[in-house]
Amino acid sequence: MDRILVSACLIGRPVRYNGTDKKSGAAEILERWQQEGRLVPVCPEVAIGFPTPRPAAEIRATPGGGASDRQGADVLSRQAVVVEDSGRDVSDLYVQAARDTVALAKRNNCDHAVLTDGSPSCGSTFIYDGTFSGIKKPGMGSTTAALRDAGITVWAETQIAALDAELRRRSATS
Ligand code: SF4
Repeated sequence: MDRILVSACLIGRPVRYNGTDKKSGAAEILERWQQEGRLVPVCPEVAIGFPTPRPAAEIRATPGGGASDRQGADVLSRQAVVVEDSGRDVSDLYVQAARDTVALAKRNNCDHAVLTDGSPSCGSTFIYDGTFSGIKKPGMGSTTAALRDAGITVWAETQIAALDAELRRRSATS
């Protein structure tokens, strides 16, 4: 059976930076997957030791910089940083969180991950531009980049139905 790494906030755990969850509109599918024993929940940020609530964080080229096109992969290669809205550089923790999440996914044989879009850790189709003004840009977070590097397919929460269809197709042909 395919196991799926999932952002803890998507299944109702209030672990987001602002102390809320991000319960998905596809809760029925997530509940079924949970009952089937497929889900491996993780919050990379809480797992590495960040408290909840915690300051918002975004990806920039440099700690004092503003908007940039830098991505989670650039954080991993140290060509970009993750900063909190105070300007504190938290890149080291984000890089370690990404590595730890890959190790968790591998230990649990997860070929797929469903992660909350927009996060500097978990974003997979968009993140924020580094100005803390709510402006989105296409891109992915540092944990998503590390998971994709490791060969794990990362889906956004808006793609849960598509992943469900793929898993059903696969089990019907096996
Ligand atoms: S790091 Fe990921 S799992 Fe944790 S709160 Fe942010 S989006 Fe959710």
